[in-house]
Amino acid sequence: MLVVMSQRATPEEINAVVAAIEARGYVARPMPGGERTAIGILHNKGAVDAALFAGLPGVKDVIPVTRPYKLVSREFQPEDTVIQVGDVHIGNGHLTLIAGPCAVESESQCLEIARHVKEAGAGLFRGGAFKPRTSPYSFQGLGEAGLKILRKVHDVTGLPTVTEALDVETYDIVEKYADVVQIGARNMQNFSLLRRAGRSKKPVLLKRGLAATIEEWLMAAEYILDGGNSQVILCERGVRTFAHHSRNTLDLSAVSVVCKESHLPVIVDPSHAAGRRDQVIPLSRAAVAVGAHGLMVEVHHAPDEALSDGAQSLYPEQFALLSRQIRSIYNVFAPSRSGR
Ligand code: PEP
Ligand code: MN
Repeated sequence: MLVVMSQRATPEEINAVVAAIEARGYVARPMPGGERTAIGILHNKGAVDAALFAGLPGVKDVIPVTRPYKLVSREFQPEDTVIQVGDVHIGNGHLTLIAGPCAVESESQCLEIARHVKEAGAGLFRGGAFKPRTSPYSFQGLGEAGLKILRKVHDVTGLPTVTEALDVETYDIVEKYADVVQIGARNMQNFSLLRRAGRSKKPVLLKRGLAATIEEWLMAAEYILDGGNSQVILCERGVRTFAHHSRNTLDLSAVSVVCKESHLPVIVDPSHAAGRRDQVIPLSRAAVAVGAHGLMVEVHHAPDEALSDGAQSLYPEQFALLSRQIRSIYNVFAPSRSGR
């Protein structure tokens, strides 16, 4: 339920509505907007009686919210969320490129790749220091040493960094070094991790689970917003299907649906979706055409020697080509992006 205050409502009237909501045992979430304040009613177990609030001074309207997710929905917030990381904006009219290796392997590897992707137009650098690997015998990442390398990349190139937090235990340290904390596909419904992310002041990049419905994905994001962190970037990275021609199946229809359902920025990871280099540029073009706010792409200067995901990593010159092509596509569609 959303209580919409009139444009002329006073701060006292808004406070009184908040108090009335809380007196019923619900959580009130005031959301000041450009034109008026709306107050979301959260944590209600069943239906809320609109008549309880409709007659209070300053109340213009009481609107039922039809979706199970509230804070992430456009019903609660019609305007797009824009997340700022350093000088980079993610969401609404911006097109953001995040690029870098699958895993942080060494300082020289990261600095070399970072220089290339920055020159080609990347706004953020990615690289895993804690890697979620299917096999316990595969390279697990450099851990804190990897985080320190990411900090060095930031200091040298100015690129903010994105890296994954695998668990609650290491969240503090990841958050200390990273500019954006990634929650990976396999952890999308790790509820204690989502709650931890909700207490963070750093933006969170939430990947869609391998078999997650859109509703489950948005409910996972809801955990983070409910915890108090509204800076969430959603990332479609392919779902598991019967197809064997690619590692996963990139669900581009999810992008346009989520852009309609939610005000949060939605980006696409074509690398983990495809699992193979030759599909990354075509899928990137399609993702931008369908309305994604950005891409996260794996790039390596020597993919044959990469410790993980070399087969899907672009060579730097391919990334530069991708960057040019998607900007042309973006410019074609840019005028129609607002109000979709
Ligand atoms: C990654 O981006 O490094 C990663 C492991 O991706 P995903 O969680 O989508 O598999
Ligand atoms: Mn990878």
